[in-house]
Amino acid sequence: MATPPELDAMRLAIAVSARGLGSTSPNPPVGCVILALTGEVVGIGHHERKGESHAEVRALQHAGDRARGGTAVVTLEPCNHFGRTPACRQALLDAGIARVLIALLDPTSRGAGGAAVLHAAGIDVELDILADEARVVLGPWLHALATGRPWTIAAWGHDGHRHQPLNDTTLTQLRTDVDVILQDGGQVEEAIPGAHGHHTLHLPNDPLPDSDDPSETLTALYAAGARTVLLHVAPDTIDRYAKANLIDRGLVYLAGQEPEDLADPAAVLIPPGLRLTSIGRADNWIRIEAIPRFR
Ligand SMILES: [Zn+2]
Repeated sequence: MATPPELDAMRLAIAVSARGLGSTSPNPPVGCVILALTGEVVGIGHHERKGESHAEVRALQHAGDRARGGTAVVTLEPCNHFGRTPACRQALLDAGIARVLIALLDPTSRGAGGAAVLHAAGIDVELDILADEARVVLGPWLHALATGRPWTIAAWGHDGHRHQPLNDTTLTQLRTDVDVILQDGGQVEEAIPGAHGHHTLHLPNDPLPDSDDPSETLTALYAAGARTVLLHVAPDTIDRYAKANLIDRGLVYLAGQEPEDLADPAAVLIPPGLRLTSIGRADNWIRIEAIPRFR
């Protein structure tokens, strides 16, 4: 059983993991907090981009000697393989960590990953700690892994009558959480240029060929290393993705201050297959979120 301070630490780890959104792909955005034997937070770390230290290593570096005998609280199972960086489960053992709390297992480890090795080494390992809350950040990455295509956000403006392009401010805000932006005509760009480091994403220089099947486009983006994509496209393209059940989150920015501005009964706010999940105000807009109806 995780104690209330340990749950607090997991929520902190989940929050800091979001610093890796838009830059860690194809790796997951992970956060880690180290609690000393006395229970105080002595280390915080997140994964920034592929080829750089994992969250556990950064948190352990931060903690130094204070990690000995302490607890590591991590949003995803520590890795068990030597890739471009040493295995995190070894770093945890070397630092003398006594207890490890994990929110979500790494589906690529198939039960033989860091958690199993740590347990076999005599570490007190607890799984499934605030798993649903950790999915708030890791959900899109896990979904991409499970489906072999990036998680998609479709965003558009709406003036009460028809779709409109997003304004620059909104587009700038949306860029920070995704890997790439797909425009009409198949043009792809890294959402924040250079965020993933050099030679991590293998995006095509030329526009992706226009396919009747949008899943082909998404499969190509996944192969290029993208795990999240912002669809910044025209209404008919959004409809094609919606019909293929390929929109994971819809974001609508509805303009119009007066009721009569919104009076077109034929106006379609969100494509069929989506349902509203949250609505709030954003400057002079109404910001509407929708997700697939059957998921
Ligand atoms: Zn690792």
